Amino acid sequence: MNNTDKAPLKKLLAVFAHPDDESFICGGTLAKYASEGVDITLVSATRGEMGRRMGNPPYLNRESMAAAREMELRNACDSLGIRELLFLDIRDKTVEFVDENNLTTRIANFIQEVDPDVVLTFHEKLGGHPDHCAIGKATTAAFQRTEQRGALYFISFGEAMEHPERYGYSRKDVVKIDVHAHFDAKLAAFRAHRCQTEIDEWVWLPDHEAKARFGKYEYFLKADRASEVKTDGF
Ligand SMILES: [Zn+2]
Repeated sequence: MNNTDKAPLKKLLAVFAHPDDESFICGGTLAKYASEGVDITLVSATRGEMGRRMGNPPYLNRESMAAAREMELRNACDSLGIRELLFLDIRDKTVEFVDENNLTTRIANFIQEVDPDVVLTFHEKLGGHPDHCAIGKATTAAFQRTEQRGALYFISFGEAMEHPERYGYSRKDVVKIDVHAHFDAKLAAFRAHRCQTEIDEWVWLPDHEAKARFGKYEYFLKADRASEVKTDGF
């Protein structure tokens, strides 16, 4: 961590929908870049208070859930090395219903404040959940509106982007990050999201068995398909 004195600080801004998106989908990559001295800010649109999992056995309710999940997310951020956590205070499962222009403006303000080298968010069509798609759409619009100097990447699930042609993309649109050296941090982040992962027995197996469930790579889509400038996150 001392080797960052001379190089200019690189910054990453991740804009996601729920506590756990950052850990479950791209925790290894966030941990990797944090360990290399990248300054990471995470914006979570909601506190995930409408999640169906409420602990195992259930110990949360709709009233206690937001605070519990916020605390879990703070712990996950510590595990991954995310320096700053911000919330948009949108109610879980309603991101698609908030005023789109207003949401775009709020995210654009974050982009201008942070001035990131890389923005990470969901693909507006491949997000897999209405909240994911809505935050991805607004973040993409915000990125375009600010004419940001950095690069925009979309997160993707598991190994789906081993076959980008299935989604209308080609291999050159995909960035594949080897995260195996950061499985400890990723596992700690999974466990930090206790009320969501308690029911998944594999998460609580001995470390080496749990880590064996992680894929070696996490995959990202470059937002601008015409651009061939960037070949890895930075
Ligand atoms: Zn989510």
